[in-house]
Amino acid sequence: MDVHNVDLTISAVEEKQYPKTNYPEIALVGRSNVGKSSLTNTLINRKSLAHTSGQPGKTQTLNFYNVEDQLFFVDVPGYGYAKASKASREKWGKMIETYLSQREQLRGVITLVDGRHAPSDDDISMREWLKYYEIDILTVATKMDKIVPGKWNKQESLIRKTLSMSQDDALVLFSSVSKKGKDQVWDWIEGRL
Ligand code: GDP
Repeated sequence: MDVHNVDLTISAVEEKQYPKTNYPEIALVGRSNVGKSSLTNTLINRKSLAHTSGQPGKTQTLNFYNVEDQLFFVDVPGYGYAKASKASREKWGKMIETYLSQREQLRGVITLVDGRHAPSDDDISMREWLKYYEIDILTVATKMDKIVPGKWNKQESLIRKTLSMSQDDALVLFSSVSKKGKDQVWDWIEGRL
């Protein structure tokens, strides 16, 4: 998609604030600092529309970005954040779960994992949870520019194995520095609109 216009429509803290439009929605989830803002900015050709996080895990809103009046990117705050209080974590967990399991406009979820390491226990739980709800998943391994190309295959195998992915499950190796994988991510998104 050739993207020129993107606006943050709403940073929602509760369901009644979600957009009333029927545009398809693609959610992005991952641990704080995994590179979610950087991926979003790469996809929409911006340097800084989606804030790259200064304080990981502090944002507790669902951010709906209107892309060309055709779809919403829904930025789901990073899981595994330590700073928020237990009470706000529990409240927040419920809001995410309800959104991801019940939102009719949701067409798929992009889950980000740090391409340099084996996926974490949180990454594994998130994937299992999304599978349980039969949500369409694209896994994006970020920061691949930090790994030499000769090790990409090995890293892909490690990620697939740790997340119990089959060869048919969608995985894109991505870098916001080199833009590697950008077109593949867009292809997956457009296949869901
Ligand atoms: P978020 O918390 O998931 O939104 O993560 P950010 O997009 O803010 O990125 C966290 C840090 O990782 C920042 O310092 C980014 O510059 C860096 N980063 C993100 N993506 C990449 C990437 O593809 N390559 C490299 N080298 N650094 C990245």
